[in-house]
Amino acid sequence: MHERRERFEHIYRILEEEYADTSSFISFAEPFQLLVGVILSAQSTDRQVNLILPELFVRFPTPKDLAEAPAEEIETLVRSVGFFRMKARNIKETARLVHERWRGRVPERMEDLLLLPGVGRKSANVIRGTIYGRPAIIVDTHFGRVVRRLGLTEERTPERIERDLASWIPPGKQYPFSMRINRHGRAVCTARRPACESCRLAPFCLRRGVVSRGEEERGGLGDDSTTRARSGESPGAR
Ligand code: SF4
Repeated sequence: MHERRERFEHIYRILEEEYADTSSFISFAEPFQLLVGVILSAQSTDRQVNLILPELFVRFPTPKDLAEAPAEEIETLVRSVGFFRMKARNIKETARLVHERWRGRVPERMEDLLLLPGVGRKSANVIRGTIYGRPAIIVDTHFGRVVRRLGLTEERTPERIERDLASWIPPGKQYPFSMRINRHGRAVCTARRPACESCRLAPFCLRRGVVSRGEEERGGLGDDSTTRARSGESPGAR
């Protein structure tokens, strides 16, 4: 544990230098817009969501407006994201709950956020960290992959990763760490071809399950996903 915390502090300092920006990937003017954005972003890109939100909120500016909107009209406005019918239902019902139970204010407590349809722990942590400045470990696919490779956790499911890291990462560092690791996962420690040779975190990374670009070209075994594909093993089987 001691060794892990020491490596974390080095990693954190480097990430601070590399990624000054810790802002949300979803553009929003008000908390409720971010809430709708995170519901829409599941299995869709932030870019798609950022294209949808302005028009949606010009048409339905408040939670009350969205709660009372015809379902078909919401579907039409969000149809460019995956699972748009289900998401349209979820944002309409979420709008109703926010309007009726919290008088239009996005709730802050984890247990309240989890009552909203389409909001899981990841989305709830985005809201809590971004809007309310609360400690938040945000485990999406990028974050989970990178922290496992770094050897900062042994856990494999999002909830266990969150619980593990939240138990020892200082509260004030959790949200900025989440946002910076996410950016690092998109830019450098990518799923199939992590750029370990140019990665500044390399001296403090255990590189669990990783074969880097250079090694792969020299005939390495491939990373986690490549190895699994070759063996016919599913991620859940590990
Ligand atoms: S050294 Fe490689 S595995 Fe470790 S964080 Fe950097 S890119 Fe990812």
